Amino acid sequence: MVKIGSTNINPTKIVCLGRNYLDHIRETNAPIPTEPVFFVKTLNTLVTDNKPIIYPKILYESQSYKRVDHEVELAFVISQTCKNILVDNAFNYIQGYTIFLDLTARTMQKSDRNINLPWYRSKNFDTFGPIGPTIVPNSEINDPHNLTIQLKLNGQTKQFSNTKHMLFKIPQILEYLSKFVTLQRGDIIATGTPSGIGPIQPGDVIEASIEKIGTITHEVILEQK
Ligand code: MG
Repeated sequence: MVKIGSTNINPTKIVCLGRNYLDHIRETNAPIPTEPVFFVKTLNTLVTDNKPIIYPKILYESQSYKRVDHEVELAFVISQTCKNILVDNAFNYIQGYTIFLDLTARTMQKSDRNINLPWYRSKNFDTFGPIGPTIVPNSEINDPHNLTIQLKLNGQTKQFSNTKHMLFKIPQILEYLSKFVTLQRGDIIATGTPSGIGPIQPGDVIEASIEKIGTITHEVILEQK
């Protein structure tokens, strides 16, 4: 159970899109996908209520894996169990929208990818999925594909875009994903990040905002042992 604002949800999975904004695809020199690219984050990543992001000591002390990046994303929450959804009624299966930070151990991800290992460990450190501040009901956002999305690091704007630049839109994402897996009430789907990703350090303060949803603010602190 996770409490996001005043709403309790009980997700069984967090499914994230990679490479879903053209400007971000260009900045990472990745090929433009012809189908949505999915990966999962595990529930231990979730952190709410502006609690701190724990910067893993194992990364901080590593010469080769030091870099951790911020990625601000629009996420939506599934309202009811569903499979094989069609584009035309996809919005019937969305409870609401929230802000998600897909924190990524970037150098570890690149290194693992180069030897054909999965993204699992670079994406799933504890607190690598801040979420909130609330779930805005589907009925209150007429067009989720026209929202300003931004991230500030220590007060400086690093990511600034609009959800209209998503390559695969939410109905397409739902139709495609639900061909493969049953989605459950409370499941979280993150829709990818725009350009401007960059490193974070212990001591930084991240503010991630999406129009009509609000802002989450998280301090980054070094893991203590
Ligand atoms: Mg991402």
